[in-house]
Amino acid sequence: MTTVTASEAAYVVAALLFILSLAGLSQHRTSRSGVVWGIAGMVVALAATVGLASKDITATGLVLIAVATAIGAGIGLWRARVVEMTGMPELIAIMHSLVGLAATFVGWNGYLDVDAELTGSLLGIHHAEVFIGVFIGAVTFTGSVVAYLKLSARIDSRPLTLPGKHVLNIGALVAFVGLTIAFVARPNLGLLIAVTVIALALGAHLVASIGGGDMPVVVSMLNSYSGWAAAASGFLLANNLLIVTGALVGSSGAYLSYIMCKAMNRSFISVIAGGFGTPAAAADDGEHGEHREISAEETAELLRDASSVIITPGYGMAVAQAQYPVAELARKLRERGVEVRFGIHPVAGRLPGHMNVLLAEANVPYDIVLEMDEINDDFAGTSVVLVIGANDTVNPAATDNPASPIAGMPVLHVWEAANVVVFKRSMAAGYAGVQNPLFFRENSQMLFGDAKQRVEDILRSLDALDTPVREMAGTR
Ligand code: NDP
Repeated sequence: MTTVTASEAAYVVAALLFILSLAGLSQHRTSRSGVVWGIAGMVVALAATVGLASKDITATGLVLIAVATAIGAGIGLWRARVVEMTGMPELIAIMHSLVGLAATFVGWNGYLDVDAELTGSLLGIHHAEVFIGVFIGAVTFTGSVVAYLKLSARIDSRPLTLPGKHVLNIGALVAFVGLTIAFVARPNLGLLIAVTVIALALGAHLVASIGGGDMPVVVSMLNSYSGWAAAASGFLLANNLLIVTGALVGSSGAYLSYIMCKAMNRSFISVIAGGFGTPAAAADDGEHGEHREISAEETAELLRDASSVIITPGYGMAVAQAQYPVAELARKLRERGVEVRFGIHPVAGRLPGHMNVLLAEANVPYDIVLEMDEINDDFAGTSVVLVIGANDTVNPAATDNPASPIAGMPVLHVWEAANVVVFKRSMAAGYAGVQNPLFFRENSQMLFGDAKQRVEDILRSLDALDTPVREMAGTR
C-alpha cells in the first residue's frame, strides 16, 4: 500500500473516531470515553497528515513540523492543566480565534501559492474558496477575540448598539458577495485585503452587539463558525479529513446553538445576526424595597424542619468550589428523610453542562439532578429552595417584566417555594447585569458570604442541632 492510500485510510479511521467522540460527549456517563475517542482520532489524524505530506517534505521540513507540534502540544497541555473550570468558556473562545486565524492564513496562502495545474473554471472555484475561507476565518477570529474579552470581563458584557448596526452587518455581507464575484473574475491583492478588513470588522461587531445573557449561544455559535472555517481550509488544501472534521464541528456547533436558543427562548437567527430584531431592553434600576438576611444557624433550622428541598446551583457555586459541601449537605438531609433534588438551568454557570460536571465530580447521584423543565412545576410544593450562587437563572424579571434585558428567558421558578435562601456575597447583579427582584420577595432571605464557607457553617449547625437529640437519647 502506498503512503497516500494508507494515509487516506487512516483519515477514514480518524473521521469515525471523531463521530464516536461526539456520540460519547452527548451523555454524562459516556463523556470520558468521548474525550478518549477524540484524542485517539486527533493522534491518527496528525500521524496521517504528516505521513501524507512526507513525500513532498525535506528532512528540515519534518523537523519543523515536529518542533511546531511539540510547542503547540506543550502550550495546550499547560493551558488545560492550569485553567479553572470557570475560565473554560474564555479558553474555548481564544482557541476558536486560533482556528479562525489559521483559516485566514490558509486562505491567503491559497492566493499567494496557486497550483499551476488549475485553469478555467477550476481556477475560479479555487479563488472563490480562497475568499470564502478568508471571510469565515477572519469573522471567527475577531468574533472569538471579542467573546474572550467579554467572557474574561476585560470589556463590558453589555451589547454595543451602534446606530444602524443591522445595516452595517447586512452591508458587510452584500460587500462580501460583490467582492467575491469581482475576485473570481479578476483576482488581486487589493480585493483580498478589502475582504479581510471587512470580515475582521464584521466578526468584532457581531459579537460586540450581543448582550451578556446571550453569551452561551455566542460561544457555541463561534464553535460552529470555527468548524466551517476549518472545512473551508480543507477545500483549499484538498484535505478530506479537514473537510469532514470541520463539517462535524460546524454542524454540531450550529445544532448546540439552536438547542441553547430554544432553552433561552431566543431567536436563532436573531443571535447569529448580532441581536437582529431584538428590541433594545431597558435596564432595571428601579426600587425593589428591603431584603432580609438569614444566618447559617437559622438556615440549618429551616432545613431540619423541611420535608422537601431543591438546590439550584449557579456560577457562584463554581467560583466558591462549594460542590463538595453541597453534596455532603444533600446526603445529610436525605439521611434525615428529607426529599432533596437539584434543579439545573441549561445556562447556569459559564458553559453548557457546567453544574452537571461539578455535581458529578462531587458524586451527587444522577437521579436527583433534574433539568429545569423536569423540576419547574415542583417548586410550588417545596419547603425550602437553596439558591447557591445562581442569579440570572432564578430571576423572576425574566417572566414578569417585559422591559427586562432577560425578558422571555425561561428561568427556574424558585420563588414559588415556601422559603428561598439565596447564597451570595453581596447584592450585586448577575452576569447579565440585571437586578434580581427575587432577593426582595417576602419568602426570600439572603445568606451572605462565600457559598462554600456558608454551606460548611450549615453542616456544622446541623450537627450541633443533632447533638442534644443524640445525647438525650443516650441518657434515656
Ligand atoms: P450569574 O452569573 O447570574 O450569577 C452568579 C452569582 O454568584 C453572582 O450574582 C455572584 O454574586 C454569586 N457569586 C459569585 N461568587 C460567589 C461565591 N464565591 N460565593 C457565593 N456567591 C458567589 O449565575 P447563573 O449561573 O445564575 O447564570 C449564568 C449566567 O451566565 C447567565 O446570564 C448566562 O447567560 C451566562 N453565561 C452562561 C454560559 C453557559 O454556557 N452556561 C456561558 C456564558 C455566559 P456576588 O458577587 O454578590 O457573590
